[in-house]
Amino acid sequence: MGQRALTWFVLSNMGQLTFPLLLAEPPEPAGPSPGDAFTRAFRRMGLRRAVPDFQVEFRSFAGLRSTIRLRENQAQVRVSDVLADAPLLVHEALAEILLAQLFRRRPSREARECYLAYVFKPAVRLRIDEARRQRGKKQLLPPRGRHYDLEEIFAALNRKFFNGELPAARLGWSRKRSRRTLGNYDDAHQTITITRWFDAPSVSPDLVEYVVFHEMLHMRFPTERHGHRRVVHSSEFRKAEKEFPKYESAIRHLKRLTDRRSVTLD
Ligand SMILES: [Zn+2]
Repeated sequence: MGQRALTWFVLSNMGQLTFPLLLAEPPEPAGPSPGDAFTRAFRRMGLRRAVPDFQVEFRSFAGLRSTIRLRENQAQVRVSDVLADAPLLVHEALAEILLAQLFRRRPSREARECYLAYVFKPAVRLRIDEARRQRGKKQLLPPRGRHYDLEEIFAALNRKFFNGELPAARLGWSRKRSRRTLGNYDDAHQTITITRWFDAPSVSPDLVEYVVFHEMLHMRFPTERHGHRRVVHSSEFRKAEKEFPKYESAIRHLKRLTDRRSVTLD
């Protein structure tokens, strides 16, 4: 196998907009080394290849994020320091999930459940949110763009469709003109980011309003949890979205711009 690198974003609403910042010294892991958890998980997978040399570091990522990279049978693993004092069993579950991603296998149900049960514990979630708040300084451009003013759009939509009841959110244009992430609502920071690609005269006001409206619906209908499953766009959410009067024309415009036959927003 050649070099393969992958980044695994775990349960993060921030997706591509996560900016990991290194702030603190990584804590020293105590007791059995987390590298052992990876070795054991690797052996259980029964792959016909030499056990990689695992180097595991805890990093002060913004939020919950873990990555693995394999190069010449050296596996470099970076794990969010929020998980530094998790039980060994959780490290082993995470190891299995990351290795499964790396070698294109399916992690066992037990591993996924063990990992999710831990990261959904209220105390752990609190630490994750705190890490995001402190470290995830979002690099936004001001809401008043060259062509569109996001604060104006937000205020008008809030009055018209939410009785002015939505709390103020931080608004801004993304640094990059992303064509993949058109909009994002980050609930840890109460921040709406819209792709700077849309701050242009070639983009209709209907489309910009629609994308802002979509992100505002994330404020109104927060992510739901059903067991271990997270529902980001509930049926209520999708219904409310379709009631937006400019929905059809915005979607048409979006299809033309992206040259795709069907589009849905994340
Ligand atoms: Zn969405």
